[in-house]
Amino acid sequence: MIRLNSKDLSSATVVHLDKTQLKVDGEPTFESRAKKASSLWDSKGSGQGGKKAFGEIRKTLLQMCVGVEICNYCEHNEATDIEHVYPKKSFPEKAFRWENYILSCGKCNTDYKSDKFAVFNPLHSADLEELPRQRGTYSQPANADGVLINPRWENPLDYLWLDIQNKSFHFTDKPGISLRDCRKAKYTIELLGLNARTPLVEGREVAAKYYLDRLERYVRAKHATTFADLEAITQDPDMVDETQPFEAEQARIMDAIRSDIAHHQHPTVWQELKRQRGQLPKTGRLLAQAPEALEW
Ligand SMILES: [Zn+2]
Repeated sequence: MIRLNSKDLSSATVVHLDKTQLKVDGEPTFESRAKKASSLWDSKGSGQGGKKAFGEIRKTLLQMCVGVEICNYCEHNEATDIEHVYPKKSFPEKAFRWENYILSCGKCNTDYKSDKFAVFNPLHSADLEELPRQRGTYSQPANADGVLINPRWENPLDYLWLDIQNKSFHFTDKPGISLRDCRKAKYTIELLGLNARTPLVEGREVAAKYYLDRLERYVRAKHATTFADLEAITQDPDMVDETQPFEAEQARIMDAIRSDIAHHQHPTVWQELKRQRGQLPKTGRLLAQAPEALEW
């Protein structure tokens, strides 16, 4: 998980969300607010205003995705669902709040997270309280000090650490963090099944190899002096246009490799390769030859 770059919605869509939220907030009890949030959510895309607003919300969330339309939790599957970071059942006051939305895959949203959530109680403590989840029961949480790492507003890499060195490709808590932050890391890993889901773990391992391969090609392209060098890097003579000036072709190929890196799944793996380059000799060596890649 990496932090998303938040974007603004149009004022018309903000007004639509505010109006819908007011209908929830106007209900007299917590239970009726939760039920109202749920029914309004089910019909959110209906009517002229709802269709337009939620069309824009989905489009903006897609632009904010950490990769090309991939889930912001697992970074593996297609992002299909508008997900409430704070579940609407426990936090109806956040059901129609823009800052509470991210795009996730159906598996993360439905099979793993669902409406599970925990808060720190007392507020700002390290004591974790799971919210009750029995069907048909509604109880107001003690506070909104969420345990789950919220990639809209927090940098997940302040809490998480990916084991690349020992090649388990499991997430763990970042060394040296506080007990509270450690609980945030562990809760997030467990709730989303980030280590328990084999395709995710294997996907991170494959991604690490991909990123290193691309970085190596980038460095070779940077040092290339002939068209034959460029052809060897792309492994396809048709990819290199020898009618163009050499420097232009070299720059184009370097740009293409950079774009490959920017659009691949599991962008956290790329961030972690850079962060841990001091402990990863090959990665460190390549990045020393292409320090500009640290900004990607
Ligand atoms: Zn997912």
